[in-house]
Amino acid sequence: MKIICVGRNYADHAKELKNPVPKEPVIFMKPDSAIIRNNQPFFIPKFSQNIHYEVELVLKIKKIGKNVSEKYANKYYDHIGIGIDFTARDLQSKLKEKGLPWEKAKGFDGSAPLGKFISKTNIKDLTNINFHLDINKETVQKGNTKNMLFSFDAIIAHVSQYFALKIGDLIFTGTPAGVGSVNINDQLECYIEDEKLLSFRVK
Ligand code: ZN
Repeated sequence: MKIICVGRNYADHAKELKNPVPKEPVIFMKPDSAIIRNNQPFFIPKFSQNIHYEVELVLKIKKIGKNVSEKYANKYYDHIGIGIDFTARDLQSKLKEKGLPWEKAKGFDGSAPLGKFISKTNIKDLTNINFHLDINKETVQKGNTKNMLFSFDAIIAHVSQYFALKIGDLIFTGTPAGVGSVNINDQLECYIEDEKLLSFRVK
C-alpha cells in the first residue's frame, strides 16, 4: 500500500507557511514504514530539532482505480480517519531551498500516526466535517472540510491520473492552520467531530 498526501489544501495553512495558494493539488508520498498504529508513541528522530504536527483527515481507498472522474470518486472510499503528517520542518526548509524532494522531511519512519476509521455512512455531510487536534488537552488545530481547496473527490480524480489507486491505500487530505512543534512528553489527541480516534504520546 502507499500513502498519498496533499500539501497546502487549506488556504489558511498555505499562508501561515508563506506558500502560495496552489492551482492544483500539491502531492507527495510517504512509505508504509511511516505508519504508527494502535496509539503507539512517536519518537522524535535525531536528525531534526523541529518536528511539526499537522492533523489531517485520511481517506482509505477500497477499490482499484485509474483516471477516476470526480463524479464517481466517492465510490472509491467508504471510511474516513484522522492522522498526523509529522514534518521535520527544519529539514524540509533546507530541501525546499535547494529545490530537492521532501521525502526525508515528510516520509521518515513514524511520520504518519493513524487513528481509527469511521464509516462514511455515519457522516451527514462530507463537505462539513469538523476535526481538531488537542495537545496536552489544549486545542491547537481546528479544521472543517468546507475550507478545503480541493475536495476529497477532486483529490482522488487528480491523484489517480498519475498513480493507480489500490485497495488499502491512504490519502492524507491536508492540514488547516495552526501547525507547530512537538516536544517530548506531549500527548496528542485527534478528533472527528466529538469522537476521539487517535491518542498517543511523543517520546
Ligand atoms: Zn500535511
